[in-house]
Amino acid sequence: MNGEMHILLVEDNPGDARLLSETLSERSDTIAYRLEHRNCLRACLDAVDQADYSLILLDLGLPDSQGIETFRSVFREVRDAPIVILSGQSDEQLAIAAIQEGAEDFLPKNELAASLLVRTLRHAVERHELKQQARFLAKHDPLTRAYNRHYFEETLAAEVARSHRYKHPIGFLMIDIDRFKGINDTYGHDVGDRALCCVADYLREQLRSVDYVIRYGGDEFLAFLPETNGGTDALARRIADTKLLMDAEDIEVHLTLSVGGSHWDPSSGDPIERALKEADEDMYRAKARGRVSGAAAPIAQTREEA
Ligand code: GH3
Ligand code: MG
Repeated sequence: MNGEMHILLVEDNPGDARLLSETLSERSDTIAYRLEHRNCLRACLDAVDQADYSLILLDLGLPDSQGIETFRSVFREVRDAPIVILSGQSDEQLAIAAIQEGAEDFLPKNELAASLLVRTLRHAVERHELKQQARFLAKHDPLTRAYNRHYFEETLAAEVARSHRYKHPIGFLMIDIDRFKGINDTYGHDVGDRALCCVADYLREQLRSVDYVIRYGGDEFLAFLPETNGGTDALARRIADTKLLMDAEDIEVHLTLSVGGSHWDPSSGDPIERALKEADEDMYRAKARGRVSGAAAPIAQTREEA
């Protein structure tokens, strides 16, 4: 990790807290850190609510919470920082149980050597970052940060079940960049990559928080709208009518999008895959119309021409 490690120490025994603080300060030349101390669960939860920490060092026996419940209460609230358990001799089994539930590591209080302490903190932060990255990549396309197709396919069954329960139709918009290959060929892949990010950002802005933007293929995105009332035409038109202007150093590239839409009604008895295919076919029809009218062509110009 780069920069200062912001550590929250949650420990009710003043002697143990002091020992830890002193042990850590022995290595202040090798690790940049800032240590905050709280002595009960309530104060810990207030602290994590108000600040971001790189790591939480947690004693499980606190005045207002005991044992594994202490870990669970903190873990429920904190997902973006690793938790390292401080365990006494008698509760090592508890610390191991906490690791099975998601704690990053544990430190026995009676063996708090400075080298072990620093190594444990560093490894906990690094491991946690790697796990967060892996979790992100399992669901997202790394370039555009849109959801990936694998995640969409995994989520679909749950959304179909929800749609049956709440009787909400599901909407699909298939969106493809017009003549995207020409952008790559003319300006290079870096500009092409930026165009993909620009479209993904724009689509995220257009949708509600319950909707998903999925990178469906190379230059094809799917807007997955799990809670529609049946009307996505206005949104589809708005996206189709947009001429996105992408700034890329000395050139301005205007992007247009071809959009196809469809709906799946849970009472229809149709397989949802049919609606997805319809959106794709509708998008290709829109693209063909755009070709005829000449709309489906990215316009690029240098700043001097603009
Ligand atoms: P149309 O107007 O019919 O949609 O044609 P198009 O040129 O937009 O689409 P086509 O399917 O012919 O080409 C898509 C291109 O997208 C081909 C591929 O090299 C490019 N591509 C796919 N993934 C990426 C990527 O991650 N980055 C970049 N820069 N290009 C990509
Ligand atoms: Mg395309």
